[in-house]
Amino acid sequence: MPQITLESAVSGSTAARYDYLIVGAGFAGSVLAERLSAGLGKRVLLIDRREHIGGNAYDHFNEAGIMVHRYGPHIFHTNAERIVQYLSRFTEWRPYEHRVLAQVAEHLVPIPINLTTMNTLYGLQMTEAQAAEFLASRAQPVDNVRTSEDIVINQVGRELYELFFRGYTRKQWGLDPSELDKSVTSRVPTRTNGDDRYFGDTFQMMPLDGYTRMFERMLDQPNIDILLETDFVDVREQVNYGHLVYSGPIDEYYDYCFGKLPYRSLKFQHETLNQAQFQPVSVVNYPDEAVPYTRITEYKYLTGQTHPLTSISYEFPCADGDPYYPVPRAENAELYKRYKALADSAPNVSFLGRLGTYKYYNMDQVVGQALALYQRIAEAAADANASACGASS
Ligand code: FAD
Ligand code: UDP
Repeated sequence: MPQITLESAVSGSTAARYDYLIVGAGFAGSVLAERLSAGLGKRVLLIDRREHIGGNAYDHFNEAGIMVHRYGPHIFHTNAERIVQYLSRFTEWRPYEHRVLAQVAEHLVPIPINLTTMNTLYGLQMTEAQAAEFLASRAQPVDNVRTSEDIVINQVGRELYELFFRGYTRKQWGLDPSELDKSVTSRVPTRTNGDDRYFGDTFQMMPLDGYTRMFERMLDQPNIDILLETDFVDVREQVNYGHLVYSGPIDEYYDYCFGKLPYRSLKFQHETLNQAQFQPVSVVNYPDEAVPYTRITEYKYLTGQTHPLTSISYEFPCADGDPYYPVPRAENAELYKRYKALADSAPNVSFLGRLGTYKYYNMDQVVGQALALYQRIAEAAADANASACGASS
């Protein structure tokens, strides 16, 4: 990968050396850098304040030689074939269907709630049809489903809501589900059949050699220079560039002029254990509010690696730290709109990604967003070319 130093990025002629300065080497910034370079032949400087590419999807071999995800488990899933086709230029895939268990009282049961979950918890042997009736009898209809509490209670009733969602959500977000938009808990479906996969998407898999290797291949282009451990504020006045693409937090870019957008953070506690296996599946959720972490991930399940030891991570949600999650609730959406209005009136900067557009996006959605921005740029370039040709003919 063409990694450079700050000195070589800022030295040389006074003319713009880079067509694009892209802030953030996660999915948003890296996909756009690849497209602009390979698709339009643009010169790109891609920077990140971290010491690695890949953003939150970064993975690496730890001191024991086990591949782990530094920022928690990242499972690729999508319904969009074109996203798979695009990423497949840079990686082969390992088939992987994600399964999660939740520790509820003395039971380890599937989440999303499914037939097995209900039969185990209640000591029943229901069929699928009976489970549907069971849930219907417990569901408490809510007229105007607005919040993350409403949507679950409306589907499964208060008891299952409290067992699986209330405590987990209060820990994860530092807010009660009644204070969060319904889009948060509605990410997790409810099933009456035995399907115990976490995601229902058509495509579910992991990059065969890991995410970081996929990013390395994506960015391995002569037109892309990469500067790591470099914050935008430290180079904004020094680098010559035509257009800025910013995938960091939009409120930070605008110096918090309307106030801070709330983001939820996590502390990851990584451990390597002197045993081959720790838990029965890759992720076990702990919805009990008395347990300080939300989930434990065992990475070998995700990667398929065999190793005599095993590496796990605990996730402790917190308010301060790296911004990981935009917090979906009406007042935050209003605040974001004010920043977006500023962004819309700034012709030389585009905002992208989970932090740049303050959207609780999965990886595939961020790839889709970056490809869409590229499409708009490519079309504008084609229009400009056409009118230049028209003018000269
Ligand atoms: P990021 O990956 O956050 O990249 C932004 C980059 O910008 C960062 O590297 C940051 O260092 C850099 N940056 C910010 N500001 C500056 C600055 N001023 N100067 C220089 N650099 C800067 N998605 C899935 O599809 N499946 C999953 O299983 C999944 N699991 C997740 C688990 C966790 C714990 C988390 C937090 C997220 C998960 N996601 C998952 C979501 C996924 O991480 C995001 O959709 C994706 O990584 C967002 O990419 P991005 O490029 O927008 O942002
Ligand atoms: N959730 C929950 N209990 C669970 C799993 C999820 O209450 O066992 C809620 C919680 O609010 C969480 C949201 O559903 O933030 C979305 O879950 P998902 O697994 O998609 O979260 P992510 O992987 O993005 O952290």
